[in-house]
Amino acid sequence: MKVIRPQMELEIKRKADILVVGGGPAGIGAAISAARLGKKVLLLEKRGFLGGNITACYVENCNHFLKGTPFHSEGLYKEIEQKCYEIYGNDNIREKNKMAFHSEYLKIFLDKFMKENKVEVLLHSFVNEVITRRNQIEAVIIQTKQGPEAVSAEIIIDATGDGDVAFGAGLPFEQGREKDGMCQPGTVNFRVTGAHTEEMKGERLSEISNIFTKESKEGRTGLVCSKQDIPFGRLTKAGQISYVNYSCAHGIDPTDIEGLTRGEMECREYILEIYHYLKNQFHELRDIEITSIAPEIGFRDSRRIRGEYYLTIEDMESDRQFDDAIAVFPRFYDMLPPDGTSSGNGKVEGKGYDGHIFEPIVDERTFQVPYRALVPAGINNLLLAGRCISADHVAESGIRAISLCMMMGQAAGAAAVLAVQDRVKPADIDYKKLQEILRKQDISLP
Ligand SMILES: Cc1cc2nc3c(=O)[nH]c(=O)nc-3n(C[C@H](O)[C@H](O)[C@H](O)COP(=O)(O)OP(=O)(O)OC[C@H]3O[C@@H](n4cnc5c(N)ncnc54)[C@H](O)[C@@H]3O)c2cc1C
Repeated sequence: MKVIRPQMELEIKRKADILVVGGGPAGIGAAISAARLGKKVLLLEKRGFLGGNITACYVENCNHFLKGTPFHSEGLYKEIEQKCYEIYGNDNIREKNKMAFHSEYLKIFLDKFMKENKVEVLLHSFVNEVITRRNQIEAVIIQTKQGPEAVSAEIIIDATGDGDVAFGAGLPFEQGREKDGMCQPGTVNFRVTGAHTEEMKGERLSEISNIFTKESKEGRTGLVCSKQDIPFGRLTKAGQISYVNYSCAHGIDPTDIEGLTRGEMECREYILEIYHYLKNQFHELRDIEITSIAPEIGFRDSRRIRGEYYLTIEDMESDRQFDDAIAVFPRFYDMLPPDGTSSGNGKVEGKGYDGHIFEPIVDERTFQVPYRALVPAGINNLLLAGRCISADHVAESGIRAISLCMMMGQAAGAAAVLAVQDRVKPADIDYKKLQEILRKQDISLP
């Protein structure tokens, strides 16, 4: 059975110099960077708040992996982290990351921050159609309660995480691992209160996590979900654990509504099992209760749009130097097993997909992200930022880091401004000028 979708003429209701779609780490970086360079910026976000996975999936402890290494936050991420800490304080009693975000305060901060930086924000604005003509995006269509609305801009930045704008424009993409297209599992984080903090000396939460991993590897937990570690968020004096990162639903296409529905429901079952496990196994957690479940399932990867450059794991492993580098980041990979298997040695070599690929920062090795990986092939007024850039699947497990996504956003925002100012396509901007702007935005480049 088929239906005919009637054609419709739509007035272009809103226009901007630069349109950013998606208000997660990459979109925040892009919007602020472009607005601070004097352009009229409109930011569209499908949810009722900004922050992407930090706020929608409670991923507050974003830069935990930098602790004890020679690396530190840079650019806008550092600025936001410091400002939030100054304004709201943080009663995180864990040593692991004192500066971790409080995701509810971050929502409020971002509302104000956008206003102060003259970024126009529209929430509840789901973009799922794109009108193109002669390799240009003429308008994107937002689905609103009052029907579709058309928005146009000189340059559009796709920071949707899933590459929805590029997909709508019909651009080629890859998704998941090469052999079968499977993505990393989806996760729904949750919060608990009632932990007896007075009984929790030192890094007790990390110890609990280690005990769990050992029991899990020995097959002694009796739990259904195959996840073998439990990263915890902040622990407050009041006994709140700001997130428990455990549930994993495998084999889900993050863009398919049936898969998403299954993932949300499956993760909620896993939340309940780990909640009971923690409560029963650890005396200091005997009185915990679930206070909230993240509003939406979170994904670590989905569509990766083909760009002018395709960043590979070999580039990253050899620290390939690029003339158009827009970010330098510590070598770090975190790839949860797409099929839930738990074998393998956790190393990146041979693009192993058996088990969790986890390569923490061990030395001063870095990798570079070239600007061309943010420039999609085939559309002349579109840029990419965040986890949907042009990269192979294992490479994406390194570039998906929240602070790097924000750095890529900063680069895309500044590049869009240069394209508008110099009246050139994003592919033809002067890299040197872009790098100069980024250095002024506190990004370290060679
Ligand atoms: C459970 C979990 C734990 C993680 N842990 C860490 C960690 O500890 N450290 C770390 O650095 N990274 C971590 N990550 C990875 C990290 O969260 C992501 O890689 C990062 O958030 C990607 O940023 P982004 O801006 O590209 O996308 P997202 O954060 O996904 O943001 C995309 C934004 O676009 C909006 N959007 C999507 N589609 C549309 C549309 N069609 N129209 C309008 N708006 C749209 C979304 O609502 C969202 O706000 C974790 C991820 C998960 C799921």
